[in-house]
Amino acid sequence: MPDLACKLLVIGAGPGGYACAIRAGQLGVDTVIVEAARDGGTCLNIGCIPSKALIHAADAFARLRTFADKGAMGISSGAPSIDFAETSRRVGGVVDRLSRGVTGLLKKAGVRSLHGEARFRDGKNVVVRTAEGEKRIRAESIVIATGAEPMPLPSVPFGGDVISSTEALALTEVPRRLVVVGGGYIGLEIGTAYAKLGASVTVVEAAERILPQWDAALTDPVARRLAALGVEVHTSAKASGWSGSALAVEMPDGQRRNLEADKVLVAAGRRPRTGAARLAELQLTTTGPFIKIDERCRTSMRGVYAIGDITGEPMLAHRAIAQGEMVAGIIAGQPHVWDKVAIPAVCFTDPEIVSVGLLPDAARKAKDGDVTVAEFPFKANGRALTTERDDGFVRVVARADNGQLLGIQAVGEGVSELSAAFSLALEMGARLDDVAATIHAHPTRSEAFQEACLRGLGLPLHI
Ligand code: FAD
Ligand code: NAD
Repeated sequence: MPDLACKLLVIGAGPGGYACAIRAGQLGVDTVIVEAARDGGTCLNIGCIPSKALIHAADAFARLRTFADKGAMGISSGAPSIDFAETSRRVGGVVDRLSRGVTGLLKKAGVRSLHGEARFRDGKNVVVRTAEGEKRIRAESIVIATGAEPMPLPSVPFGGDVISSTEALALTEVPRRLVVVGGGYIGLEIGTAYAKLGASVTVVEAAERILPQWDAALTDPVARRLAALGVEVHTSAKASGWSGSALAVEMPDGQRRNLEADKVLVAAGRRPRTGAARLAELQLTTTGPFIKIDERCRTSMRGVYAIGDITGEPMLAHRAIAQGEMVAGIIAGQPHVWDKVAIPAVCFTDPEIVSVGLLPDAARKAKDGDVTVAEFPFKANGRALTTERDDGFVRVVARADNGQLLGIQAVGEGVSELSAAFSLALEMGARLDDVAATIHAHPTRSEAFQEACLRGLGLPLHI
């Protein structure tokens, strides 16, 4: 006999799992959620939120250092100081508040929460090891939302001063010399923050460029800013060993270099978290290491769904949330199916990058070259010019025949907040003339979106 029976059991209270459970509870589905660590998952506890809180503090400090070093806008100041242990406590405080908020929201939705590690017995039965002993749960439907974890590199295993993002976000001292393996999202977001906090940072990236999933035009402003911040970037370079004080790196010319470091952050991707739940025993169909799902997030086993990072790229919190919400609706009997046009991607580097929909090359391939690509630089945007940061641009990619937007990208300060307008435009099937004819408030960076569309129509106004 099970200790608990429910209609829906959600395993993992990260963005995917908690969103699914909250929505299911609101829809009147009898729901239980199991979480092995703290509510909020990777994103809230050791990912999106602490990294952005760290980036925010690092930006504030770097700005003060600029005023102290050379002054800006007629402002100069004395040298700033930082009590990094206090900065870390603030980061922890933000995380605590949000995690408690998720716990409260689950309760408010009438979801029963259990803390402990869940292990599958079969597709309907799960055992949870809680502080009060083992609890057996039987559920009509189960949602697997166990997320992902840092991928170890065999040549540079985690341990001691070789750390993952989790430890990098919990340091209480700024390392003097930080080497980052992987010039992707995590390596560059955290690496840039520590460079601004005073660390000497070196990035080792195996591909030819940093952030290789995007084109060079989009990533060049980030590369230039890294250089300005004194970050050394080695591309086409591979980490091959750690001596305890230096990272051995195979350079593109075949030479081996030893990079002295106090900490090495390995950020070379993430892998699905399958072990603790004994997912292998269910023998679900996989794509690579990830669980294969269909357009309703159904796995190959009836009644078992999977959402979020456990299902592979793009491993983004907002995708997990959208999947979780959709599955809750399906379990409540609603006829949902995954029909999103686009999932925005934002990299919180300096400057920030946003990409929604197709990049120019992918669009050209999909439409046999029949596309319009137009860019508007922030150098011609009044709002950007009022600040000290006018680097970057907004770029639109549209069908040549009718101007329907296929992709929108931007790089520049604060462009993360433009991602909502970009996603909305794609979801609504907007065309260049829809955006061009929409009044955009002046002076704002968002005008660069309107101007890029005007340019795509051959009607540029401010360039
Ligand atoms: P997770 O958030 O990983 O949650 C899974 C949960 O399941 C965990 O709490 C885990 O403890 C629990 N669990 C696992 N196994 C069991 C078990 N057997 N029993 C019980 N519980 C279990 N994404 C963005 O969109 N924007 C960002 O800015 C961003 N920044 C990031 C920064 C960093 C440093 C990292 C590491 C990631 C970042 N991400 C970001 C990615 C984002 O964190 C993930 O996409 C998101 O957390 C995935 O949600 P999820 O629900 O699939 O899994
Ligand atoms: P990533 O895929 O973004 O970057 C990993 C980088 O490491 C790649 O550029 C890869 O070429 C490089 N690499 C791999 N092996 C290497 C080696 N041996 N030596 C040198 N370089 C090597 O992965 P990540 O930065 O670990 O982030 C994982 C996931 O987390 C991302 O895919 C993303 O989905 C999510 N994330 C998102 C955000 C955000 O939305 N802002 C922030 C952080 C993380």
